[in-house]
Amino acid sequence: MPSLRPPSRRFPTHAFLALLGLGLALAFALGWMELTAEHNTATFRFALDGAVADVQAAVGEMHSLALSAAVTGEARAVAAYREQAASCLASAGTLRRVALQARGLASPDCLDRRLQAVLDLGDQAMQLTLAPGGSGPALALLQGQDARSARTELRDCLEQTRAGIRTAVLGLLASQDHHARLAVAAIGLGTLVLGVFASLVLRRAICATRENIAAREALSASERRFRDTFELAAVGIAHVGLDGQFLRVNPHFEQITGYTAEALLARTYTAITHPDDLGEDLDQVERLRAGAINSYTMDKRYVRKDGSLVWVSLTVTLLRDAAGTPLHYISVVSDISARKAAEAAARENAATVTALLDATSDRVFLADATGRILAANMAATQGLDLGPEVVAGRTFDTVFPPDLARSRLAHLNRALLLGRPVRFTDERAGILFDIIIAPLPAAPGTPGRAAVFARDVTEIIRAREAAEAANRAKSDFLANVSHELRTPLNGIMGMAQLLGTTPLEPGQVQCLDDLQSAAASLLVLVNDLLDLSKIESGRMELVAEPFVLSSIIQGVAATLEPLARDKGLALSARIGDEVPRLLVGDGDRLRQVLLNLVGNALKFTETGRVSVDVACARPCVLPGHGGLVTDVYFAVRDTGIGIAPEDQARIFESFTQVDASSTRRFGGTGLGLAISRRLVGLMGGEIGVESEPGKGSVFSFALRFTVGDDSLDEAATGRDRPS
Ligand code: ADP
Repeated sequence: MPSLRPPSRRFPTHAFLALLGLGLALAFALGWMELTAEHNTATFRFALDGAVADVQAAVGEMHSLALSAAVTGEARAVAAYREQAASCLASAGTLRRVALQARGLASPDCLDRRLQAVLDLGDQAMQLTLAPGGSGPALALLQGQDARSARTELRDCLEQTRAGIRTAVLGLLASQDHHARLAVAAIGLGTLVLGVFASLVLRRAICATRENIAAREALSASERRFRDTFELAAVGIAHVGLDGQFLRVNPHFEQITGYTAEALLARTYTAITHPDDLGEDLDQVERLRAGAINSYTMDKRYVRKDGSLVWVSLTVTLLRDAAGTPLHYISVVSDISARKAAEAAARENAATVTALLDATSDRVFLADATGRILAANMAATQGLDLGPEVVAGRTFDTVFPPDLARSRLAHLNRALLLGRPVRFTDERAGILFDIIIAPLPAAPGTPGRAAVFARDVTEIIRAREAAEAANRAKSDFLANVSHELRTPLNGIMGMAQLLGTTPLEPGQVQCLDDLQSAAASLLVLVNDLLDLSKIESGRMELVAEPFVLSSIIQGVAATLEPLARDKGLALSARIGDEVPRLLVGDGDRLRQVLLNLVGNALKFTETGRVSVDVACARPCVLPGHGGLVTDVYFAVRDTGIGIAPEDQARIFESFTQVDASSTRRFGGTGLGLAISRRLVGLMGGEIGVESEPGKGSVFSFALRFTVGDDSLDEAATGRDRPS
């Protein structure tokens, strides 16, 4: 299966996280700074206020202790005073440091000097206190003007310090407010910038997400398509490892090979390849692997699971990775057994046709519309004194004399133009050729081709000409002899008739009857011979005169009625109402044919009946070339001895009788049907027979006549006519 590239646009995770981190860090830093500053300021202010209060409290305490020590005069009170004085000094030192730090001390020495002045007065008072009788002066000193002034100055100094500190702290607060505003502005600006960046990043992230979803959907749809293509392909597809092992096969491949997918995955392609095809397959794989070719296609056979062979058309490509390293082969296989079978059949057919054509003595070759010979059989190449390989590719003008080449090419193009075979005769080197050129089917857009069959008919034509000449001579002889025979025969019959009018002995009458009967038979024979010879020599001419069909039929029936009566047979004739009364044609020849057929029917029927049916095909009257025409159907039926199927064709030949003994039994010459067939043929019809031995026969034919003028009304009215 092919692998698809993952979506190219990635979610901007790093940028998103970096911005988020930056924003959080900024907010945190500013918040922390603000909080710290607030805290520091508050702490500072509280510390300063505390320090001033401490100093003030310490100074007050110190004064109280000094007064107490001065009143009591006790050393212990003096020590407490001094301890307090030291503490006060320390508090003042602290205040001084803090005030200096806050720049809230206008004059740093002021506090020290004022405090030192109060301490000095206190020390003096304590020294007085410790001296005997010094309590009073000490008290006076402590409560004196100097002491009050020193404390007042110290208090003022402390208040000044407190005010300075407050001012400094307020300045500090103002400065911090300013910084805070700057910080808020910075935060606002930062937030705005961050917001813009965040929205850009977010927009990109949304786009990337959408694209990723679309790409993933496209990828999965594409994978589904490829999977379906693989599974449902109408050709076999197999992925084959570099070691020849099947890796993956589709259902069609299983179908072709007859193995299941599991069975194939446990095999190599060489295991199911026919040994005769393996060499070429391996060679091609080697070339593919070496990069000499990108793919190869070959026809080969697989040995199916059931042992049968299947022909396939195999196309193999080699899949490589981006670095060109071979991964696996992709084999596409289609079942071409039917094609191979058709090719084998076509080869066999071609071989058969070639063998057949080579076996014939006729000269056969294929040529195209330009007269270029495409192929020739053995007889043709021998006739041209050229080998088959030399004939192919030559043109008519290089193998035939110029006139012959031109004529044959013209005939060939005529056959191609007409789309049907043309036949003609020509002569080359004293040999007469009966040539048939038959156009062959050609694919659209390709030059027309035709098969040329040339038969040497020199002998046949000469023999036919000789036979025709002999036949003509025979017919002439027969015509002459018949003619010459008829003259004395008429004389004999006339004399016999005259003799019959004279008185004769009873025995002589019988002899005369026999004589007249024999002479009549002879006259029939002579007339038949004369007719046959006339027909065969082409001298029989038909007339086209109006005749009444019913008269002809009635005449035939009347002529043969005595014979039927003698034999006890029923003779009937029926003319269909639709048949026109007056027809134009040769009524005498029609009568002759009907007399012959009805005569035969009576002759070869012992019991039963003979009937003549005349009908008209529908529609009865048709427009013809010279007016209206009608096709009239004649049938003569009998219930006689019938004719065996194998004899039915030959009874129409001259002098042919089914049974040689029939001449003795039934009389006749064997010419009647031959003459009838020829006469019907001359009139444009064809006589036929249906017969079953022992049951009877039907002789029938159809003739086309022009309809006489006065028949139309009667035919239209369908008047009944006697039969
Ligand atoms: P033939 O003079 O012998 O009748 P035809 O040519 O008329 O000569 O007939 C040829 C032969 O065909 C007859 O000898 C007979 O054997 C056979 N044949 C003709 N018509 C019939 C028929 N209606 N029934 C049986 N056989 C017939």
